[in-house]
Amino acid sequence: ATQPYDDSNIFARILRGELPSKTVYDDEFALAFHDINPQAPLHILVIPKGAYVSWDDFSARASDAEIAGFVRAVGQVARDAGLVAPGYRLLANTGLDSHQEVPHLHVHIFAGQKLGPMLA
Ligand code: 5GP
Repeated sequence: ATQPYDDSNIFARILRGELPSKTVYDDEFALAFHDINPQAPLHILVIPKGAYVSWDDFSARASDAEIAGFVRAVGQVARDAGLVAPGYRLLANTGLDSHQEVPHLHVHIFAGQKLGPMLA
């Protein structure tokens, strides 16, 4: 069972326009912006517009249209940033053991350098 969605989380506030973000992509299903504390030369977060706590919550509850729209948006953000040829890494922390800090689903895009085998 997933925790209930907390409307006051920082990404909900970004979605409502209450907090600024360095937006790189915005459509019906997804918003993408630069991570405030980048862990790679390029570090973008992609979040669904809907209220989903985590990858687990999203994959279980979101509609097919939301899932398709979000997955396509993640790919589009990477293409827009010119990352197809050099490559990039996707990461979505989910649940207690994963160190997920913000309780709104976010997919990390890491790029801009040769990445190691895995992030710690
Ligand atoms: P998590 O650990 O939950 O997978 O990742 C949360 C990410 O959100 C971290 O990389 C952190 O730097 C980023 N973050 C936290 N607060 C903010 C914020 O207010 N704005 C932006 N752009 N990123 C944030």
